[in-house]
Amino acid sequence: MTNNKKHNKKQLIKKILCRTPGILRYVAYRTRHLPRIFMYHRFTPENVPNGHVVSALNFEWQLRQLPRHCNVMTLAEYIQLRRQNAPVPPYTVIFTIDDGYRDFYDVAYPLLRTYRYPATFFATTAFVEGDIWLWPDRLHYVLEQTQLFGEELTLGNETVRLLAATAEQKGATWQLLSDYCINVPDDEKWRVIKHVEDCLQVGVPDTPTFEFAAASWEQLREMVANGIEVGGHTVTHPVLSRLEPANLYDELVRPKTIIEEKTGKAPETFCYPNGRDADITSRVLEIVKANGWMGAVQGSGIDFSNLYRLPRFGVTNDRLDFLWKLSGFEQMLWK
Ligand SMILES: [Zn+2]
Repeated sequence: MTNNKKHNKKQLIKKILCRTPGILRYVAYRTRHLPRIFMYHRFTPENVPNGHVVSALNFEWQLRQLPRHCNVMTLAEYIQLRRQNAPVPPYTVIFTIDDGYRDFYDVAYPLLRTYRYPATFFATTAFVEGDIWLWPDRLHYVLEQTQLFGEELTLGNETVRLLAATAEQKGATWQLLSDYCINVPDDEKWRVIKHVEDCLQVGVPDTPTFEFAAASWEQLREMVANGIEVGGHTVTHPVLSRLEPANLYDELVRPKTIIEEKTGKAPETFCYPNGRDADITSRVLEIVKANGWMGAVQGSGIDFSNLYRLPRFGVTNDRLDFLWKLSGFEQMLWK
């Protein structure tokens, strides 16, 4: 079966199961002791029907799907209960938002306030400081701005063409560059990004443009005062498995003091950038455990036993997929 056919079949099964209230309730009950830790990155006020940038409309719809008996808490509250061996309430839901973008403050946070739900916001400290762009955004920006549509570039041993005439080509070129960058040492990643910028003749401003900007410390302080937990997400969002050991310590430990200084509240939980299994090496785990983080989340998985590798479910604009994950089908199928 092709991937597309498989996807369609899965969608159909999801549709049938999610539209049968008896089944929904049964699955939710069977999985009630497994938390739904949701993972978000970006939000938009615009009404986009699909994709990973969640619209205000769809986020509010998601909040309205939470049954009255569910328990929404921050990640720190959940981990605290686990550490104390205290009972975790059934139907626990945790909203986590990665990176530190200002669209969380602009779009999602007001809705969370309206519905009185807490959330955990993972801030990349140098990004919030306004000192850096997140590296995947630099590539997006350069591909958006360039007037050159087919330059050649050497990537490792290969020569590739940086096609950028249409949105589709830009997407494919971004993917190609991003896949390369994620798999090479940090200095090679930055060499290539600079090289792409030169090659496509785009000057990147020192601070990110509005589209790619972070929330400010002031906004973070306001959110902390209103029930949002701020957690650590490194200083510069590197690929952890590709860093020099000396930089690794700095990236994992320094956010603790920076976030405490800037928000007045010491952060307790951590989120690994990229969140791939390969990035969470034993050395990374060792440093995170030994330096005051109470627990940590990764990008995927299903095993809730290790508080330093808690799994999460990515949320998009796909409403069916949200219901599927909220109800606990994903957890049940993995069991
Ligand atoms: Zn991230």
